[in-house]
Amino acid sequence: MTPSRRVQETPPSGIRRFFELAEEMDDVISLGVGEPDFTAPWNAREAAIASLERGRTSYTANRGMRELRERIADDAERWNLSYDPDEEVIVTAGASEAIDAAFRALVNPGDPVAVAEPCYVSYDPGVRFAGGEPLPVPTRAADEFKLTPEVLREAGAEEAELLVYCYPNNPTGATMSIEELAPVAEFCREHDIGVLSDEIYADLTYTEDHASIAALPGMRDRTVVFNGFSKSYAMTGLRLGYAMGPAGAIEAMNRIHQYTMLSAPTTAQYAAIEALDSCGDEVAEMRKQYDRRRQFVLSRFEEMGVDCFEATGAFYVFPEVPDPWTDASTFAEELLEAESVAMVPGDAFGSGGDGHLRASYATGLEELKLAMSRLERFVEGAR
Ligand code: PMP
Repeated sequence: MTPSRRVQETPPSGIRRFFELAEEMDDVISLGVGEPDFTAPWNAREAAIASLERGRTSYTANRGMRELRERIADDAERWNLSYDPDEEVIVTAGASEAIDAAFRALVNPGDPVAVAEPCYVSYDPGVRFAGGEPLPVPTRAADEFKLTPEVLREAGAEEAELLVYCYPNNPTGATMSIEELAPVAEFCREHDIGVLSDEIYADLTYTEDHASIAALPGMRDRTVVFNGFSKSYAMTGLRLGYAMGPAGAIEAMNRIHQYTMLSAPTTAQYAAIEALDSCGDEVAEMRKQYDRRRQFVLSRFEEMGVDCFEATGAFYVFPEVPDPWTDASTFAEELLEAESVAMVPGDAFGSGGDGHLRASYATGLEELKLAMSRLERFVEGAR
């Protein structure tokens, strides 16, 4: 029962380590979590309950219920995306499964896969599990962590078969407009690179509507878009996500999915249909509350003299480590110890994240206020 070399070579998630530290303590305010503090909208929960009452406890079609795929395809029109629900949409157990299936379906052994960092922690291990070689592309604080042809070129990403990234971004809260995505698309077309675009936070943008690279000319056939219900609808525990892309890529992903998963959770699919049908108001309300918290946290950092660029999406801000500290892990550990506030060091999210901290505002405003006061006391005490 010796773990495979691949597993042995994969370090545990840097976020988990922090949670474990925090869990051992009392009275911790965690700004470390990556999931909504809201509960899924009632209509969605009720639809899940009703499906169980009616005895809907079987598998669904491998790719997910057609009714759900239709709604997913209709919903994507908001972002100028048009997909055929029969051939170009697959419903998965969270976006996580879609990401994993895409790597395994599209990566050959030794293929370089460009990973725009800092980023969600699953891409690098996902590429490795699929036998590929992650090629880190550190984005820069000076560019507000947006992806540019310059950083792609600097990292040698011309060689990559695929590029994976996430906007709105976890951990930075950065978003990219269609104008900013256009030169990235051009780079990918020029060097024949496929794109895996994680858009799970598409509903959580605060200054302008979300844009997808797949809507740009020539990109639809070289892009797989990931999305899901975890963030927008506060449905993390229901484990439901999806991917949309050209038929060949979705068929390849389905080949893996039909053996590894069979079909995504049936109960959650009923909830998701209802979420798309009738929960738009709740999504808008949650977004409003996140935005209020975002503005509060940003203004408090400014008052404290902690540098933090204006995050415009997801539910994270990514401040610089305040003076006199230089190392994010040391700062985070000392803050946790002294004030029981948990933040995650930026380097847990790959290259380009060092010297920063991820603070999630998926926490009630009252708790955020308390966390910010404790943080202020801690930072000012050291100055
Ligand atoms: N992508 C990103 C960027 C995320 O932040 C997360 C969740 N933390 C996921 C994917 C996974 O989401 P799901 O719950 O749908 O698997």
